[in-house]
Amino acid sequence: MNKHSSTRLALRGDLIDFTAPPALEDPHSAGVRVRPDHWLLIEDQRIVAVQAEAPGPEWPQEDHRGRWILPGFIDTHVHSAQIDVIGAWGTQLLDWLNTHTFPAEARMADEAHAQALSALFLDSLFSHGTTSAMVFPTVHKHSVDALFAAAQARQMRLITGKVLMDRHAPDFLRDDVAQAERDCTELITRWHGQGRLAYAVTPRFAPTSTDAQLAMAGALMAAHPGLYMQTHVAENRDEVRWVAELFPEARSYLDVYQRFGLLGPGAMLAHGIWLDDEDRALLRSSGAALAFCPSSNLFLGSGLFDWAAAQAAGTAVSMASDVGGGTSLSLLRTLADGYKVQAMAGRHVSAWALLHAATLGAATALGLAHEIGALEPGLMADVVVWDKAITPLEARRQAVAQDVHDAVFAWMTQGDDRHVVETWVAGGLRYRRPSLAEPQLRA
Ligand SMILES: [Zn+2]
Repeated sequence: MNKHSSTRLALRGDLIDFTAPPALEDPHSAGVRVRPDHWLLIEDQRIVAVQAEAPGPEWPQEDHRGRWILPGFIDTHVHSAQIDVIGAWGTQLLDWLNTHTFPAEARMADEAHAQALSALFLDSLFSHGTTSAMVFPTVHKHSVDALFAAAQARQMRLITGKVLMDRHAPDFLRDDVAQAERDCTELITRWHGQGRLAYAVTPRFAPTSTDAQLAMAGALMAAHPGLYMQTHVAENRDEVRWVAELFPEARSYLDVYQRFGLLGPGAMLAHGIWLDDEDRALLRSSGAALAFCPSSNLFLGSGLFDWAAAQAAGTAVSMASDVGGGTSLSLLRTLADGYKVQAMAGRHVSAWALLHAATLGAATALGLAHEIGALEPGLMADVVVWDKAITPLEARRQAVAQDVHDAVFAWMTQGDDRHVVETWVAGGLRYRRPSLAEPQLRA
């Protein structure tokens, strides 16, 4: 690009990101990098420098002193069509799918609805501080086209693929093996590797695919190296029992996916609550990762994820909203729920471990640490500016914070999408919060 037509921007604020995984429960652990009152220099979509000194007048400046600047969050498991069923009352997983989710997903059969909903969904991710996502659309091919096209228009990192379901779902949401294979192949050709987009082979979960369809999914993975895979595993006890009945030859629920060639680097499995040590060892040896979805797990009463066991086994863990099972697109609120779920097991996860799992940890699990997840020169400028406090109570709490971990942890447990000031994606402003009703408070 011509030097004079380049777009430049310098953001000033308190920078937080990670250089390595912090210990799970130690607030003083290495790995976190806090750079108070620094400048983040962005040019032509990328971060080009991070420095304490103010840049020269050739850099347009935005002064966010007193605010956090973090890498955009990465939501590793979320369902676009389910924004219509957030906060739906009264069911556990299998009933919830039939009662709330499948009817909402059926509406995606309408192409105009799929396009409008995809745009709203991605813009809502931005307004909640999330800049990258691994997304389930629906079984409809055009739901994938709509989502990829909307992401491309926004220059965001997005991983998605057609949901595969050829049994145990209503007629209007079932595909078949041959048609699904044609659709997937066409979508892979059209979208995989285009800019920041990547395709994920997406069997909904083992119960809704026949052996033949899971075999087809595994064959796609083998035929197209570099594809991602996303699905659900061991979320709910009734589901685990059902999978054992449907696949009596498999050692475990996770083993079903292994038998069909679906585990490997780039495989993201949501939940993983009801796993055993052999499963965790298999996750590590295959390079597959888990998406911890605490908001969803609490809301649907699914169970309490054992993060320490996953970490002990060397399994990568990232954070995910799992909307609409989860009740908010805000990963900040999801992190607060994650802390509480671990507290139920007597563990006290640090703000650093939680934030790492929503940024660099997720990027690493997806093989994308060269592109997203940190505030590092060379990476794409996916950056979110956050208010530390927006109410007098929060400002008071920040003012009396004992150290930076105390301040960040309090912010993480109190904060939500109202704390997002600006969201930048590939160096472009994608969201700016409307002015708050009250005069803005800074810590
Ligand atoms: Zn899910």
